[in-house]
Amino acid sequence: MTYDQNNIFAKILRGEIPCDKIYESDHALAFKDIHPQAKVHVLVIPKGAYVNMDDFSQNASSEEITGLIRALGEVAKIIGVSQYSSGKGYRYIGNNGPDGGQEVPHLHFHIVGGEPLGRMVSTKS
Ligand code: AMP
Repeated sequence: MTYDQNNIFAKILRGEIPCDKIYESDHALAFKDIHPQAKVHVLVIPKGAYVNMDDFSQNASSEEITGLIRALGEVAKIIGVSQYSSGKGYRYIGNNGPDGGQEVPHLHFHIVGGEPLGRMVSTKS
């Protein structure tokens, strides 16, 4: 699996283009999605160069995996959707590969919430 060093999130990580940053740690960065699909929509990405979950789950270190999962929980608190910040819940979305609808080839989780999101998934467009 080849990582594209010129994908948009790689450019954000290198500071070449701006983002609306929510959180940063040694292993993860979170920023607002540029085209929000709900009242709250934030992206959480690993700092390492991983194409998707297939790549990350096989090749990331234990520290990177822990760092990304910790970041997801911290970000949910920061943006007010976690039960630890009196939020009403949220949804993680991880699009993986062509059938998953992944557009940016750097692993990312969407955290969406701030309103009721309805049922989980539809194959109808
Ligand atoms: P996916 O379809 O899972 O690959 O989602 C990619 C997401 O990245 C989409 O929701 C886009 O709106 C978002 N996105 C693309 N470019 C940027 C950017 N420069 N800053 C923030 N979000 C972005």
